[in-house]
Amino acid sequence: MIKLYNTKTRKKEPFVPLDPTNVRMYVCGPTVYDRAHLGNARPVIVFDVLYRLLRHVYGADHVTYVRNFTDVDDRINQTAVDRKAAGASGSLVELIKQRSDETIGWYHADMDAVGALRPDHEPRATEWIGAMVAMILDLIAKGHAYEAEGHVLFAVESYAAYGALSGRSIDDMIAGARVEVAPYKRNPMDFVLWKPSGDELPGWESPWGRGRPGWHIECSAMAHELLGASFDIHAGGIDLQFPHHENEIAQSACAHPEGGFASVWMHNEMLQVEGKKMSKSLGNFFTVRDLLDQGVPGEVIRFVMLDTNYGTPMDWTTSKSSNARHTLKSWYRMTDGIPFSENVPSTLIDILSSDLNTHLALVEMHGFANREEFSALKLSLQFLGFGIAEEIDWFREEMNMASFSNLPEYQGVLWPLMKEWQNLRNSKFYAEADALKRHIEAAGIRLTVTVAGPEASWTPDFDLDKLKALKQ
Ligand code: AMP
Ligand code: ZN
Repeated sequence: MIKLYNTKTRKKEPFVPLDPTNVRMYVCGPTVYDRAHLGNARPVIVFDVLYRLLRHVYGADHVTYVRNFTDVDDRINQTAVDRKAAGASGSLVELIKQRSDETIGWYHADMDAVGALRPDHEPRATEWIGAMVAMILDLIAKGHAYEAEGHVLFAVESYAAYGALSGRSIDDMIAGARVEVAPYKRNPMDFVLWKPSGDELPGWESPWGRGRPGWHIECSAMAHELLGASFDIHAGGIDLQFPHHENEIAQSACAHPEGGFASVWMHNEMLQVEGKKMSKSLGNFFTVRDLLDQGVPGEVIRFVMLDTNYGTPMDWTTSKSSNARHTLKSWYRMTDGIPFSENVPSTLIDILSSDLNTHLALVEMHGFANREEFSALKLSLQFLGFGIAEEIDWFREEMNMASFSNLPEYQGVLWPLMKEWQNLRNSKFYAEADALKRHIEAAGIRLTVTVAGPEASWTPDFDLDKLKALKQ
């Protein structure tokens, strides 16, 4: 039984899918104007774990995951305009598409690197303009939207439940929000469904002239086209709760009153860096690619993200990153060459089923490591998207595979010796421990003690036969 904290009801509730043969979730995806920053990876990784859990419980063929690309955006246009001014060939429309394509390519590469599965559908807003126009027409016909000076606006007063998700009244919102006051708005909170485009901007023909959709209608329309009027889970960062999600609900509930839109709303809290909000002016802003290029493996980024539960604000620090690398390396080493012999541990599934308690899942994995339940550890690593030791390039490199050929053989020899060394130390037989250490080192293995237990590294003098001789 999966339980999820539903932002809509502010309760942790048992998850009951509308149709267990087709569990449906929608996650608001990126605006593709530049590289994804580290914060953008948090919802991707967190909801990837949810996707994996749902696939495990309901079957991989019975889950549909949609995450959109917002490719209608002034910043994308600006890059295209700048490139054209700098002499790039192609029309503005082509240059806009080129920018979105390149950014989507980066996004895929970066999110693949942090171990996220690709969603089943990744709709691009520009490919669903027709559905957006149809939805806007429907909202006008039903009296929830109006045209004014080439814009179409949603009339928030026409939807009584407006504000329910974030628990605000329209008056609170007006008082607290920096809303764009425009003379053509009937209520300052009314938001844009469609806006006019000048010749230099991308635009589509519509009943209201050449223009482009507002951001909120994109998600409502794509969710409806791909998941229907009612679906199970809608997720994104907490920064999207208001106004984006509030507006999505208003649009979808009014256009499709027969449906319930999303049953469960989930929001990840924000990531900050070394105790401060990420910002270019503070110099602590970086992208996922920056970290990967600095040699921080994607698995390490994933580990740090999952060590804090999604509903809690989290801090990225270099010390967390190096600790995570250390732990992962020791887990890969313990599980290297170990065959899978069981199913994914049920305790791990139970822990994750409690509102994605990924922090506790990692604690459980420390337990597997300490109890030498290496098969359980290996299955857990794989389940949580960390891959397996045999396939992790940075780990393989660090193990310097070239210097020894027979993996299970050296493990079978080295592990008992390391264990013995640790036991001797634990029992305070330091002289004996040191003697054993010297012998192991003579075989070309360097031993160190870390918080995670003893660690071995290989020197070019590594000699398996010498190590074997020690075992006898
Ligand atoms: P955007 O491209 O800005 O619309 O953001 C894409 C996704 O990243 C959304 O789900 C945001 O809520 C999320 N997001 C943006 N900044 C952060 C952050 N600092 N921490 C966690 N999630 C974030
Ligand atoms: Zn959205």
